[in-house]
Parts: sequence; C-alpha cells; structure tokens
Amino acid sequence: MHFNHDNRVGPELAVALVNAEPEADLEAILRDHAIRWPRLDAQGVAVLRSWSDALRAAFETAEPDERCAVINRLLDEAAGRLHLTTHDGLDPHLHLVADEKDVVARVKAVTAGGLAFLTAWTGGTRLGICDRDGCRLVFVDTSRNGRRRYCSARCGNYDAVARHRASRPRT
Ligand SMILES: [Zn+2]
Ligand SMILES: [Zn+2]
Repeated sequence: MHFNHDNRVGPELAVALVNAEPEADLEAILRDHAIRWPRLDAQGVAVLRSWSDALRAAFETAEPDERCAVINRLLDEAAGRLHLTTHDGLDPHLHLVADEKDVVARVKAVTAGGLAFLTAWTGGTRLGICDRDGCRLVFVDTSRNGRRRYCSARCGNYDAVARHRASRPRT
C-alpha cells in the first residue's frame, strides 16, 4: 500500500475523530494530524462532532456496496474541486478543497477523501470496528493480511481470555 501524506492523514484523522471521547480536545487532535491552521470555534467543534458521527458509518458497515454509498454521501457533503498541490515542499498530491477554505471544510475533505482513496485502493476491506463486545473503537487495518479484528492488542487479549474462560468445563 502506498500512501502520501494526505492519503495517510485522512483515514488516521477519521479514526481519531470517530474514537474521540465527548470531552476530547478536537483542536489538539487536528494539530496532532498536521492539519494546518487548526483553530476551532464552538460552532466548528459542534460541526466536527456530528461529522465524526457520520464518519463512523464508514467503519461500521461490513458490506462493500454499503460502504461505498456511505463514503459517497460524505464526499457529496465534503468535496469541492479536485486539484493538485505541492504545499510545504511535499510531492504533488490531491486535495479536495482549496487551501484557503476554513478548517472544518478542510477536515471534512481530507477525511472523506482519505477514506475514499483508501477504499478504492484496498478493495474496500481496510476499515473496521473492534470485535470486542462493548468496545466501539474503529481502526484502519494496516496489517499485512488485512484480517485485523480489534482496536488494540488489549481488546484482543481481553477477548481471548474471555473465550478461554467460556470454553473451560464448569465444576
Ligand atoms: Zn496536503
Ligand atoms: Zn477495542
């Protein structure tokens, strides 16, 4: 899998936004993902919270057709004009909105676009939600075999122990 910076940033930022706690500092998350000019006002925070709920559907659905439909709806809302950019000395890459757009528009575009590119390049199988009961965390599956099932090793271990206990004969 080849990623340039926005192709990697988009899906990773989508994961971080979907997994963010209700009290999380969204501006800090944007800064962590190298979003330029990340300043958010209260309205921007509210819009990005509901955008994160919309992004979640792209991870939760298992059917490729349904996933494409979900991401197409995100693109309808987020994408502007497709154009090439070389900002910050980076190799030419595609942006879905102009750099002078406000931060909310840029975040929508990079997350929707990132999920779209990833889905197109990976056969639609690399977005997932944790298999452990009660865990709602989502992930991008960058494993070699593409069979990741858990958000973290911790959830995987927890489930393995629970299965082991369940399989033991009762005394
Ligand atoms: Zn860029
Ligand atoms: Zn988990």
